[in-house]
Amino acid sequence: CGIVGYVGVNPAKQELIDSLKKLEYRGYDSVGITILNSSLDTYKSPGKIADLETILPVDIDGYTGIGHTRWATHGQPTKQNAHPHLSGNISIVHNGIIENYQQLKEELIEAGYEFRSETDTEVIAHLLNSYYQQNDDFHTAFQNTLKRLDGSYAVAAVCDDMPDIIITGKKNSPLVVGLGNGCNFAASDITAFLKHTKDVVFLEDLEIAQVQQNEVQFFDLEGNPIQKKKQRVEWDLED
Ligand code: GLU
Repeated sequence: CGIVGYVGVNPAKQELIDSLKKLEYRGYDSVGITILNSSLDTYKSPGKIADLETILPVDIDGYTGIGHTRWATHGQPTKQNAHPHLSGNISIVHNGIIENYQQLKEELIEAGYEFRSETDTEVIAHLLNSYYQQNDDFHTAFQNTLKRLDGSYAVAAVCDDMPDIIITGKKNSPLVVGLGNGCNFAASDITAFLKHTKDVVFLEDLEIAQVQQNEVQFFDLEGNPIQKKKQRVEWDLED
């Protein structure tokens, strides 16, 4: 299972597919992507990346996107349960397990949210949406959402009000930012983007990164900026 986010000068579709293929070795049962343009173009499929590719339009506009290979923990490996999961104008991918999802799900259903999957993950999408509705600030909404989650997560989110931004954060699941030339990445591991860059920043638990084409900023859960060290990875990727 793996997640990847791409923001850059190249069409996101091919970048995401290439990166997801590099993460295939981690194992997975379904796959999906969201590409941001004027809407959240989302495609998902059970099975292999090759199965997803058969349903992707040849050209999808958009230079920002998120992708996911799923290893199902809650809900069968179906299209419906595949990530990304959407809520309003927000799309998210997640690796890990949300241990308190049942309680959050009940709260969100009470608030009027309709669940379309059997995953634990879908609560993250709706929670983020509900906080975003409350104060119209995606950053704060993301921080508030992470504060509510028990368990493990690497999560990446996009919102079509902010077409060139990916917000990502983690706890008990790996997440690394790749600093490219004209592009930046967030991913479960460095193999996802090693062909573009060896300059990386590893996120610690409860840290958030805002990834844009020419800059990446890091924050704590209160939204305070934090300084992170860039590292250079010294090994080569065998193709
Ligand atoms: N728990 C989530 C699900 O079952 C994410 C699984 C994963 O890490 O791929 O959908």
